[in-house]
Amino acid sequence: MSASRQEEAPAMAGEVIIVGGGMVGATLACLLGQAGVPVTLLDAREGPLDAAAAGCGRPGLRVSALTPVSQRLLDGLGAWSWMRARRVTPYRHMQVWDAEGTGEVNFSADQAGLPVLGHIVENDVVVAALEARLAALPTVRRRFGARVTGLAASDRGREVVLAGGERLAAPLVVAADGARSPLRELAGIEVEAHDTGHAAVVTTVRTARPHGGVARQAFLAEGPLAFLPLTLDDDAGYCSIVWSTSPEEAMRLTGLSAEALGQALATAIEGRLGAVTVIDRAQAVPLTQRHARRYVLPGLALVGDAAHSIHPLAGQGVNLGLMDVAVLAEELLEARRRGVALGSEAWLGRYARRRRGDNAAMLKLMDGFRLLFGARHPALTLARNLGLAGVDRLSPLKRLLMQQATGRRGRLPASCR
Ligand SMILES: Cc1cc2nc3c(=O)[nH]c(=O)nc-3n(C[C@H](O)[C@H](O)[C@H](O)COP(=O)(O)OP(=O)(O)OC[C@H]3O[C@@H](n4cnc5c(N)ncnc54)[C@H](O)[C@@H]3O)c2cc1C
Repeated sequence: MSASRQEEAPAMAGEVIIVGGGMVGATLACLLGQAGVPVTLLDAREGPLDAAAAGCGRPGLRVSALTPVSQRLLDGLGAWSWMRARRVTPYRHMQVWDAEGTGEVNFSADQAGLPVLGHIVENDVVVAALEARLAALPTVRRRFGARVTGLAASDRGREVVLAGGERLAAPLVVAADGARSPLRELAGIEVEAHDTGHAAVVTTVRTARPHGGVARQAFLAEGPLAFLPLTLDDDAGYCSIVWSTSPEEAMRLTGLSAEALGQALATAIEGRLGAVTVIDRAQAVPLTQRHARRYVLPGLALVGDAAHSIHPLAGQGVNLGLMDVAVLAEELLEARRRGVALGSEAWLGRYARRRRGDNAAMLKLMDGFRLLFGARHPALTLARNLGLAGVDRLSPLKRLLMQQATGRRGRLPASCR
């Protein structure tokens, strides 16, 4: 590129540039696009997901437990009906037990006064549904193969630089570029990082007994093992596995034959679903908890995993990210109504104040669970078994935990009510 071309002003790319079209960034683009805000959505991926393949055939390896609150948000965007027509698996019960002791807690949708506690969905199904919706929104411009490598302040707000050198500017840039967020680094925002001491082994299994709409989680000595229910073509004999364990054990487990891994899984959940057959490759995913020290700067906001990544043991990660963008969209639309600049740091602070505390509390809670269940001290083992038994009997505490798990916390944005 010539020097004179380099000096040209960056092209304006609407009012908001969103970097990252995963579940969180695509939801924000839908929320703003639905309100007629000019938005550019950039993603490094080569192209949109193959919509014909999402939710068909073998399930994707990456799944999420979505709360009823997240479901409501996606429903309001017209994405939920697309997802339901493909594949979502409701669960009405949760069973959590201490494999090292005797404690067990059972939650049910009836106790929570809800039709379901949540749904297990493949991440690709969520993104494909949002992409189908985005294609119909005239103020949203999507660009794939657009890797952002630079970020600068500009007299027009913020500008981003793409890998090929192209520069784009907007009053506000939103970083939805995942846990390792290049934008967060480019902006020099520090994170508090905790190595969880865990990696997660993910795979898909067939089980001899049907899951019965129950999400199961056993706390083993090395970490929690989740069997998340999946129903394929009315066959409730599948589960998605998230086995959090030490990185060494994760390496050993992913190196096992499918048969040996199936046996290890069946033993680890005490045969509750009978024989287990592994039907996909097993993959290890590193788990680090990170929390950005700040969520906003002038003309910049972090959302989703770019702002916080959390241990998956309570299945909260993307639910928190969806709440971030529901709140951010609400604040941005209010700013537009009042004629406030979208990149105003003072105004963006409203978003940060509404979200950082909730996310920090959930990160702390996950740390507490992990430490308590990772402890081998007999006194702690006794305490957690008594604790689990207590929680199971104490309905007010149980109700509170269910509210947390189903996302009904604090002041919800209008799009989630
Ligand atoms: C094993 C495991 C199990 C989990 N289970 C659950 C669960 O049950 N429930 C739950 O709520 N959460 C769960 N989570 C967390 C959930 O997966 C994440 O919170 C969620 O995927 C984050 O979405 P995101 O859109 O913020 O980021 P990502 O999904 O990481 O998306 C980031 C996007 O940014 C793009 N990108 C990155 N860099 C650039 C760049 N430089 N330029 C342009 N584009 C870029 C990427 O291509 C990608 O599309 C789990 C996580 C793990 C690891």
